Amino acid sequence: MTGLVEKLYQNGDLSDEELLSLINSNDEQTSELLKKYADEVRQRVYGKKVFLRGLIEISSYCRNDCLYCGIRRSNKNAQRYRLSSEEIMSCCENGYELGFRTFVLQGGEDAFFSDEVLVPIIRAIREKYFDCAITLSLGERSYESYKRLRDAGADRYLLRHEAASEELYAKLHPEKMSLENRMNCLFTLRELGYQVGAGFMVGAPYQTAWHLVKDLRFLQKLQPQMIGIGPFVPHHDTPFADHNGGTLELTLKLLGIIRLMFPKVLLPATTALGTISPVGRELGLHTGCNVVMPNLSPVKVRKKYDLYDNKICIGEEAAECRGCLEKRINSAGYIVSGERGDHSDFTASQGEK
Ligand code: SAH
Repeated sequence: MTGLVEKLYQNGDLSDEELLSLINSNDEQTSELLKKYADEVRQRVYGKKVFLRGLIEISSYCRNDCLYCGIRRSNKNAQRYRLSSEEIMSCCENGYELGFRTFVLQGGEDAFFSDEVLVPIIRAIREKYFDCAITLSLGERSYESYKRLRDAGADRYLLRHEAASEELYAKLHPEKMSLENRMNCLFTLRELGYQVGAGFMVGAPYQTAWHLVKDLRFLQKLQPQMIGIGPFVPHHDTPFADHNGGTLELTLKLLGIIRLMFPKVLLPATTALGTISPVGRELGLHTGCNVVMPNLSPVKVRKKYDLYDNKICIGEEAAECRGCLEKRINSAGYIVSGERGDHSDFTASQGEK
């Protein structure tokens, strides 16, 4: 099986059948080699730098009903909140002082955050923190809306495609959502000049290795600047409460494969990975990851942005979170970068806007 890793390292790709056997293998030597090459490729492109993204969870209201997600509309036990413009600005202020140069505004699909509400917020952040990147992660919106938010100053958008197979997508989402629309959103975002992040959960209910191959093929077609993957972690108040979560081993394997297939991609060691193992994010950094996203949300709302059970970092102030992650990054042998951390293709042409 190590031959397949050698081949992936040499060619940056494998046939579907080869990817399937690599994903299905559970041979330690194979995983070790994958980790070694993923780290080598990551260091060739990005050195030992790790980019930070300050995550601001702006709303736990959601009109959607994704079956895996703790803030889905049908979860009557979910605690709902939304941040005011002032609260969002003060998160940015706090984050800027802590050295963050990217702010990620993430939330459920909350109708309150219309373009009329978001545009002035984005403009205000852009004006005050002209050297920072503004990333949005607010789900599916119209072309017109994505355009207005981009014109207001948003640089990047994270929208995981979740599952590139129609059949799996339908099992994870309510009937009125469609893979086609999700994919159209991603291509629209790219067309509007956003740096785009796509991705999926590893070990989602009903997911097989074949579905993961389809995800990798879709990512090759989209060529996003960031790929966000993390293990599926069950939430007790969802229809998937009794399903198994994704494993550390499989998530690391996919991270390694992704680094070899997409050498320049921005690859976060996610909070979900840190949730299933106390050293999950460190292992992620050793297996090709070069981004972490510390939480900048006010402590009083953290527990309410409850996507999955046992989510970590919900009790600490932003400064503690930042400090803790820096220690983890350093102890893993990497260094925190003070840069915006654009994808290398963007740094060359339009990094400093
Ligand atoms: N509403 C936005 C943000 C969603 S939350 C959107 O639709 O893009 C961000 C990501 O969390 C989702 O894309 C999903 O992949 C992940 N997520 C949701 N529930 C999860 C769970 N139970 N386990 C692991 N990840 C989950």
